[in-house]
Amino acid sequence: MPARLLDGRAVARTIRGEVAEGVASLRRLSLAPPKLAAVLVGDDPASRVYVRSKIAACAEVGIRSEEIRLPASAAQERVLDAVRRLDADPDLDGILVQLPLPEGIDRVQVILAIDPEKDVDGLHPLNAGRLAMKLDAPLPCTPAGIVELLDRSGLPIAGQRAVIIGRSEIVGRPLAMLLMHRDATVTVCHSKTRDLAAISRQADLLIAALGRPAFLRGDHIREGATVIDVGINRVDDPALVASLFGSDSPRAREVRERGYTLVGDAHPREAEARAGHLTPVPGGIGPLTIACLLRNTLRAARARRRPPAA
Ligand code: NAD
Repeated sequence: MPARLLDGRAVARTIRGEVAEGVASLRRLSLAPPKLAAVLVGDDPASRVYVRSKIAACAEVGIRSEEIRLPASAAQERVLDAVRRLDADPDLDGILVQLPLPEGIDRVQVILAIDPEKDVDGLHPLNAGRLAMKLDAPLPCTPAGIVELLDRSGLPIAGQRAVIIGRSEIVGRPLAMLLMHRDATVTVCHSKTRDLAAISRQADLLIAALGRPAFLRGDHIREGATVIDVGINRVDDPALVASLFGSDSPRAREVRERGYTLVGDAHPREAEARAGHLTPVPGGIGPLTIACLLRNTLRAARARRRPPAA
């Protein structure tokens, strides 16, 4: 039986509705609605699309936003200055620096410069540490979105054998922490893992977050497993797209008309044939990542508008 597709768009819509309600309740208290700043350095086309979608999503739920654009040639100090200015802006609740940053800019220094209270991506070491210690913290958006999708789809986490492929600081590593906190048995695989298929085949819950189109084949997947495909890869090779989706498929047409299509880290046909549940790409984890960013921005705004304890 083909996998049941998990509708990330629908769950994201519900979360966005909850955020919109939270923003409205701030307004009812005559408090300013949340405000997010998105910093985009350079002109990577995928990053431009992500920032545009995040700004549009803000408007939809009543969150104010601004976009700060810097050229790819901007010096490190200029990027840090921009972040420090945002830190100091009392009207601003959340700062998101779109990753990856162009070569020559030290991502770690930029993350360290973000005020932890405005760190809506949950990447600052203080927040990563709080997450590790199970303290209240802004959860990194993609891992949080994955957990929301599982919970709201009625799929269990506790006791499940979870295998995560990819150990990045925005997806794999924090996700491992979140799933451990929820009592899953977690294995993290990466580029140096030996015999990855033997490990991934043991997973009840298999998360692919490595950024290699259609990497996860049928023989990586245990029959009936839940497969969460985090990958978003732009594929412009018509032959590859034809082999994945068929030469007459809407995806093949998309490549001809738009120049590329988005492919996940799981082989679409093989994963659908073996998994019990599967997230589509697009329409799976991407919309949830944005919904969780909005939720983190609301969270930051609420914390910043709370009256100081007497
Ligand atoms: P990254 O490049 O920072 O990390 C990739 C990880 O995969 C590394 O830990 C590496 O060791 C591992 N890896 C690479 N090749 C491997 C291999 N052959 N076998 C096993 N492990 C391997 O990536 P990232 O930023 O975590 O992003 C991963 C993917 O997820 C990308 O396609 C990205 O576009 C996508 N992504 C999607 C969302 C979303 O909202 N859906 C959010 C973030 C990232």
